[in-house]
Amino acid sequence: MEQEIQRIKDSALADLQDVETEEELQELRVKYLGKKGMLTKVLRGMGKVPAEMRPQLGQLANEVRQLLEGELDKRLAVLQEKEKERKIAKEAIDVTLPGRPAAGGHKHPLTIVLQEIKDIFTTIGFEVAEGPEIEYDYYNFESLNIPKGHPARDMQDSFYITDEVLLRTHTSPVQIHVLEERVPDLPVRIIAPGKVYRRDDDATHSPMFHQVEGLLVDDHCTLGDLKGVLLAFVRRMFGQDREIRLRPSYFPFTEPSAEVDVSCINCKGKGCRVCSGTGWLEVLGCGMVHPKVLAGSGYDPEEVIGFAFGMGVERIAMLKYGINDLRLFFDNDIRFLRQF
Ligand SMILES: [Zn+2]
Repeated sequence: MEQEIQRIKDSALADLQDVETEEELQELRVKYLGKKGMLTKVLRGMGKVPAEMRPQLGQLANEVRQLLEGELDKRLAVLQEKEKERKIAKEAIDVTLPGRPAAGGHKHPLTIVLQEIKDIFTTIGFEVAEGPEIEYDYYNFESLNIPKGHPARDMQDSFYITDEVLLRTHTSPVQIHVLEERVPDLPVRIIAPGKVYRRDDDATHSPMFHQVEGLLVDDHCTLGDLKGVLLAFVRRMFGQDREIRLRPSYFPFTEPSAEVDVSCINCKGKGCRVCSGTGWLEVLGCGMVHPKVLAGSGYDPEEVIGFAFGMGVERIAMLKYGINDLRLFFDNDIRFLRQF
């Protein structure tokens, strides 16, 4: 029996060398020291041993039990320490790794172009004026010489809120607000940038877009002054070698009226695909303020004269940057926006 106990001890110590997890260690504890464990079984057979040998064998068995328990506990402590180190290693932050760069925000191309337009006109003496985006029919149409039933109303499909209130379809009503406020002061020199709304949605139209209106009223000014202002603007915006031309057109609130073309940004006037071979690109509309508009806001059209112009900010940005789809401005695709 003594040999049996020694064998159990050697076997247990050998097994202990191979243990790698707490589960395996627990299995080992049960195998040797559990209720049905090998050492327990041996001790149960003590009754068959002659009485004089029992104390000696009992003592040996207890020594082995204490030794094994001690070794098991030591091994457990080692395993627990290893596990802790493994967890720490897993959670550790490698401070030597290079950082991920934070993508910085920047201005939207429309914001850039709008700011540039404001800078150009304020430099030559225009003030920036603003007006409401929700507008009375009177200011959006009536006061601009577009009475009910006027064919020009068909040109603009509008978002009406009530019969008399709508989302403004252009920034031109700001002209009227400013004239009503300033009458009879001269000169009036403003640009009015802002959002406008029309019931359109395709590659060249958006239901919301941006315009800049310009207005100058004084005791004297000419179509030549208008052309000079617009040429100065176009050259600052698109380059000093640009030319403009005025083509007769029609707007209810100006007379005479003109469309303004700029020499093609792509081919410099030679003719290409961008300008459909004409060498010119349409860039804005303008004209001399209609006497009815001046009279309606309190100025005497016999005493004062003015010019007005209006441009689409998206149109200017598309020409400046060579963008061919208006919707790109509103999709907010970071890959597009990052280019400006
Ligand atoms: Zn061209």
